[in-house]
Amino acid sequence: MSAPNIETIVSLSKRRGFVFPASDIYGGLGSSWDYGSLGVELANNIKKSWWRWLVHERDDIEGLDSSIIQNRLVWKYSGHETTFSDPLVDCRECKTRFREDKLLDEYSTNRAKEGQDILFAESGQFGDAKKQPNNWLQKHNIPCPNCGKVNWTESRQFNLMLKTTLGAASAEEDESAVAYLRPETAQGIFINFKNVLDTSRRKLPFGIAQIGKAFRNEITPGNFIFRTREFEQMEMEYFCKAEDAPAIHQEFIDEFQKWFHSLGISAENLKLYEQTAEELAHYADRTVDILYRFFPERGDEEKQFDELMGIANRKDFDLKAHSKKPEDREGKRINPDSTEDLSYFDEATKQRFYPYVIEPAVGVNRTLLAVLMDAYTEKTNDKGEMRVILKLKPELAPIKVAVLPLAKNKPEIVAMAKDLKKQLLPAMRTVYDDTGGIGKLYARQDEIGTPFCVTVDHESLEDEAVTVRDRDTWEQERIKIADLKEHLRKKLD
Ligand code: ATP
Repeated sequence: MSAPNIETIVSLSKRRGFVFPASDIYGGLGSSWDYGSLGVELANNIKKSWWRWLVHERDDIEGLDSSIIQNRLVWKYSGHETTFSDPLVDCRECKTRFREDKLLDEYSTNRAKEGQDILFAESGQFGDAKKQPNNWLQKHNIPCPNCGKVNWTESRQFNLMLKTTLGAASAEEDESAVAYLRPETAQGIFINFKNVLDTSRRKLPFGIAQIGKAFRNEITPGNFIFRTREFEQMEMEYFCKAEDAPAIHQEFIDEFQKWFHSLGISAENLKLYEQTAEELAHYADRTVDILYRFFPERGDEEKQFDELMGIANRKDFDLKAHSKKPEDREGKRINPDSTEDLSYFDEATKQRFYPYVIEPAVGVNRTLLAVLMDAYTEKTNDKGEMRVILKLKPELAPIKVAVLPLAKNKPEIVAMAKDLKKQLLPAMRTVYDDTGGIGKLYARQDEIGTPFCVTVDHESLEDEAVTVRDRDTWEQERIKIADLKEHLRKKLD
C-alpha cells in the first residue's frame, strides 16, 4: 500500500518531525517548508544515493558545486531573462490567480473525458498559449474553477526568476546591481564545462553532476513540498556527440526508473510522459518526464500523476549560447559578452564542435515526497489498533537502529543499552530512546521508518543477549550481543 493522499504525509511529517511549515510562529510563509531532524536525514540519504550512483559508481561523471548567484549575463544568454516565464491570469470576481496554461490543460482534458473536442491540446493552440498568452480563457468563455464566473484579466507573462540586488551601495533602481537566485542548477554546469574538461582531461561522452538549491517565483505553489519557491535539484548534464544523443537519452530514461525503484518507489506509481511538440522547449529534441502518482485520491487515473523529474535532449543549445564564437547570418557574434569558446575538439576525427547534452533533472523534495508516500503503510495490531509503518528502504531510513531499555529505572539495563548504542553507531545510525513504554517506543520507530529495534531487558544482564524486532514483520529474535553488529549489518545490506 502507499499513502492515500498527500495530506496523510503532511500530518505524519509534522507529527514526527520530517517537515514543518516555515515561519510558522509568524503565521507561516506561503508554500515554504523546513526540514526537521528526520526530514534532513532522509533528504541527505536521497542525495547520497543519487551522488554515489552517478558520481562514484560510474566512471564517466564528475561532481560540481557552483554558485547560486552568478553574473546576470548567464541568465541573459541562457534565455531565462526573456523566456523563463509562465502566463498569468486573475479572476476579477474572486481574485484568485492562475497559470493560464495549467487551466487550459485541465479544461481541455475534462472536455476530452466528456467526449467533446480537445479544444486546445490537440489543435496545438494550448502549446501556443504557454509561449504566448492570448486571453484564451475569456475568448472561449471558460469559467473560473474557484467561483464559476467568466471575468478574466488580460493574460500576461510573468518571469519566474527571483531578483535580488548586490553590494552595499545597491538600490532597487540600480539596474547594474540586479542579480538572480538561480532558477536551476544546470547553467552553473554549462558555464564550467571548460574548467571541468581541462582539469579532468575527460573525453566525450562524460557528465557533470550537481546538487543544490534553486528558486522560482511560482505563480501557484502548493501541494505541500511538491511545488515551492525554494527547492533543491539534482541535475546532471551528460555531454556527447550528436549521433550518440538519442541512445544515451533513452538509456538514462531507463536507468532513472530503476533508480527510483531502488529507492522503494513501486513501478505502478511511476509513469513516463513524452512531451508533445507544442510542449517541448525550443532547444529540446525530445523530453520525457517521469511522473509519480502524487494524487491517488483523484478519480481520474490520468490526473493522479504529476512530474517527478524530466529527462531532456537539449541538443547543443547551451554550450553554443554561452560561447563567444557562434555568429548569426549577418556574421555578428550571438554572444558578444562571453570570453570563452565552449566547443570540444575531438582528437580522433580532428573536428571541433559543440557537444549535445542529455539532462536528467530531479527534484530532491519531490523525490522525498514520493519516497514517503510509497513507504506509507497501515497495519492493525492484535488489539485491533491501527499502526502506521513507514517501510523505507534501510539505505534511506533516517535511523537504522533504535536501542530501547525495557526498564529505564534499572541503571544496569540503561548502561548496557547506552553502551550498545555507542558500539553500533560507527557502522549504522543508532539512537537510544527511553521516553515511553516499550509499545509506544516501537510504534514511534515504526512510524519514522526505523528498520530495527533492539530491546535490552532483565534477562540481557544474565544471557548477554538482546531482542531484535523487525519493523515490517514485527517478528522478534534473540541475538547474542557479540553477534549483534554483524547480524544487523547483514540485514541492513
Ligand atoms: P513543472 O512542470 O512541475 O513546473 P518543470 O518541468 O518546470 O516542473 P524542471 O525545470 O524540469 O521542472 O526541473 C526539474 C525538476 O525540478 C522537476 O522535475 C521537479 O522535480 C523539480 N522542480 C521544479 N520546479 C519545482 C518547484 N517549484 N518545487 C519543487 N520542485 C521543483
